[in-house]
Amino acid sequence: MSNSINNNHIALSFDVEDWYHAAPVTGSSFSIYKSLDDFFFDKEVSKQDCITNETIRIIKILDELNIRATFFIVADVAKRYPLITKALKNSQHEIASHSLNHHSAIDAKTKADLQTRDKWYEEQKEAKKALENIFDKEVIGWRAPNAYFANWMVPLLVKLGFKYDSSIAYNSFYNKTNVKLKDIPSRPYWLNSENLSHVNPDSKLLELPWSNYKINNRLILPAGGGFFFRLAGYRFFKKVLNRSLKNGDSMFYLHPLDISEKKIPLENKLSRPLLWMNKGKTTEKKLVKLLNNYKGILKPCSDIYYKYKEES
Ligand SMILES: [Zn+2]
Repeated sequence: MSNSINNNHIALSFDVEDWYHAAPVTGSSFSIYKSLDDFFFDKEVSKQDCITNETIRIIKILDELNIRATFFIVADVAKRYPLITKALKNSQHEIASHSLNHHSAIDAKTKADLQTRDKWYEEQKEAKKALENIFDKEVIGWRAPNAYFANWMVPLLVKLGFKYDSSIAYNSFYNKTNVKLKDIPSRPYWLNSENLSHVNPDSKLLELPWSNYKINNRLILPAGGGFFFRLAGYRFFKKVLNRSLKNGDSMFYLHPLDISEKKIPLENKLSRPLLWMNKGKTTEKKLVKLLNNYKGILKPCSDIYYKYKEES
């Protein structure tokens, strides 16, 4: 049976990127390879695929439970992984953009731009077009690689035709945006480029923020899924998610990579550990539990967007 709390829903999303798209490997100020092209030049390591079987397994599990989700796909993945593309094309799931090649747009520490805004715009345009061509569907959602989101992206995403973003995570451990965040809404809200924490009813871009868990005013845990889901026990995670659902529609995300059992190459060469990235079967079992538990209220992000659009 479904676990309905105040008729609120959970936006269910999967970020489709492989191990080498992670910031310590490519496309950030602290990565081993500056770009994907440099990485693919290294023939020894670039062969390892940790996501084809994993993504197909997730699609199968979702289809058996009759659950639809959103897949935020790196356009580079859509081009290089024909079996993933085929499986998603034959499904009812929503396709959204997770950028062209998963490069971080801003520096992790200084938050300075890592590429010109024109270049960034052109890349997002190219990615949206590539995904729409490959999947033959309109793409209305966007998620920042590594969640590095900047306020200057808001008008550009609107101009590109995106209707919602799902990148902003508010908690006491990190702020990956380029501006100060203060008490952002815990449910989806219309995004304001002047102040990412405030609601702007005239905005054309809906934000689906990553859920968090406020223990007290000083301690807020990131609780939207991802690494918190991999590390937390299932019962604790469920408690956190239920609390988030009491406040409004929530967001859950995971990567197909998170259920991979394969050993990630280069692990000892990385400036930041990737060990925590995959917990394989343990995470997969927890995911199946979660899907069964919340079956009736899990929706693709676009369903949540249209719900808010109708209300506004
Ligand atoms: Zn990502």
